[in-house]
Amino acid sequence: MSRRKFICGNWKMHKTASEAVQLVRELRQKLDGTGAQVAVAPPFTALAAVKQALQGSAIQLFGQNCHHEKQGAFTGEVSAPMLKDVGCDGVILGHSERRQYFGETDDQVAKKVRAVLAEALHPIVCVGETLQEREAGRTWEVVSRQVRGALGGLDAAALQRITLAYEPVWAIGTGRTATTAQAQEVHAQIRGLLRELGGAQVAQAVRIQYGGSVKPDNAADLLSQPDVDGALVGGASLKSSDFAAIVTAAR
Ligand code: PEP
Repeated sequence: MSRRKFICGNWKMHKTASEAVQLVRELRQKLDGTGAQVAVAPPFTALAAVKQALQGSAIQLFGQNCHHEKQGAFTGEVSAPMLKDVGCDGVILGHSERRQYFGETDDQVAKKVRAVLAEALHPIVCVGETLQEREAGRTWEVVSRQVRGALGGLDAAALQRITLAYEPVWAIGTGRTATTAQAQEVHAQIRGLLRELGGAQVAQAVRIQYGGSVKPDNAADLLSQPDVDGALVGGASLKSSDFAAIVTAAR
């Protein structure tokens, strides 16, 4: 069984609603809907407008984060049911910027994963080591702790509904990409851990995206690795021609 490649654009804190709609219009012109699964993750304020601009398109809509509770006194937060209501198909969780700047822990990411699954949304769970951790030879210790922390205790049916994103923190927004060998090595290790957590079928089915300075000129190489099943794209997803070229490279 081959895994369908999955490319998601993480727009982070970029684009007003009208700018987001413009970007989506350009993407719709450049992508023909065949090949890879494609999603965009605009900021919360642009979700409703982008949903409307995506009508009739195969491009999916993702949130960039959510709270684990359904509702309550959590000023500034947005819940999974709210993201579902606005038309999201899934949510990016545990991004390194959430962990680094907002103190998100493995435990919180685990709760969010469950909240997102409970709404029948598709979680993309991000994991990855810092440069310091890599240089100290702790890459797998950190990545495996994050994967176990987020997914431990889920049954095989739940695990199959998740996508993982391996994003070495030192490669995010730095222009410094992991080599294909570095990416493949960690992806294969993650797949081994998925086998341990959920069995061979889960390990075979779950997609593992790579993220970290994916650009049109390195996408094909990275995506040709046997365990690299797609990309989570930051900077290059803000330019329709670059993002479309990455989607094309996934064919
Ligand atoms: C990201 O934020 O998920 C990311 C991979 O960013 P960039 O592509 O800009 O490195």
